[in-house]
Amino acid sequence: MKKLRFSALLFAALLCGCSAEPEKCVRSIYAMDTLMSLTAYGDNAQEALDRAAERLAELEQELSVTIPDSDIGRLNSSGGVPVTVSDDTAEILRAALEVSAQSRGALDVTIYPVLREWGFTTGEYSVPDSETLAELLENVDYTRVEIAGNEVSIPEGFAVDLGAVAKGYASDCAAEIMRSCGVSSAVMNLGGNVCVTGSKPDGSPWKVAVADPFGGEYLGTLSVSDCFVITSGKYERCFTGEDGRRYHHIIDPATGYPSENGLSAVTVLGESGVECDALSTALLVLGEEGAADLWREHGGFEMLLVTDDRRLVSTRGFAEKFENSSEMELQILE
Ligand code: ADP
Ligand code: MG
Repeated sequence: MKKLRFSALLFAALLCGCSAEPEKCVRSIYAMDTLMSLTAYGDNAQEALDRAAERLAELEQELSVTIPDSDIGRLNSSGGVPVTVSDDTAEILRAALEVSAQSRGALDVTIYPVLREWGFTTGEYSVPDSETLAELLENVDYTRVEIAGNEVSIPEGFAVDLGAVAKGYASDCAAEIMRSCGVSSAVMNLGGNVCVTGSKPDGSPWKVAVADPFGGEYLGTLSVSDCFVITSGKYERCFTGEDGRRYHHIIDPATGYPSENGLSAVTVLGESGVECDALSTALLVLGEEGAADLWREHGGFEMLLVTDDRRLVSTRGFAEKFENSSEMELQILE
């Protein structure tokens, strides 16, 4: 009888052990001008989140355009003299330049003088006149950024801003920390840039909502594991000028004006955060046809385009993982 009771207890304990939820840890931090929320599961979750938070703060110190002694701050005040930067800064610049070349300059990290004129860096917005923009655009050209190892130089009068790629790179770093700490289940949202590690603790895919640029709750959900889901949209940081028109924060380097080409938002799904982030900005500037051309030419990622006239266009690989809950029809790119 005693033995039976003992076995029953043991069995109950085993059951408990099997069904116990892995520990869930959550952390919110404010960095890179955005709220970041990190969630990780399992034994090492807490340590992984502590290390990730530390790394994100470190990246901000290296990459921020508003911190005078960050790598970017020093580069922008270098007067054309080469500057030694961290491995992170060199790597992120290389990744950005590659997408600049693929997009023929739709992404251009030397756009900073133009962004500053519009007030997107300070929030003191104003619409520059076209002569001012034309003048500033003479100092915008990604092909003039030179990188040799960790030495970077830009011509005098040029200035770099990594706003289009920094959060994607940061999510790569955070995902790497999850892996190295042995966390096999995590989801991190770096101001709308989502990165998922592994699957949900129960083994099913993560569900990532895709934001609706027209103000609805969301367009639908992606079921994904181990990837990055990064969106750029016209709806994000914008202001209304004295002329009553709305201006947003993604600038077409060809004109100096916020890109207006019929695309409202682009979501990129892929395996590299920095690449997805660079692409999301570049594709928004390229417009529907340009985005489709870049995808056909280079591939290696999946995307969803949302047009101003309320159409959804996506690659097949995106559509296969996407549950569309909007009223817009989804057209597949071939
Ligand atoms: P968000 O940062 O809102 O998620 P993006 O990744 O698209 O969106 O980055 C937009 C930021 O990139 C802008 O706030 C600005 O700092 C910078 N930027 C704007 N236009 C360009 C461009 N054509 N090339 C490179 N960077 C840009
Ligand atoms: Mg981007």
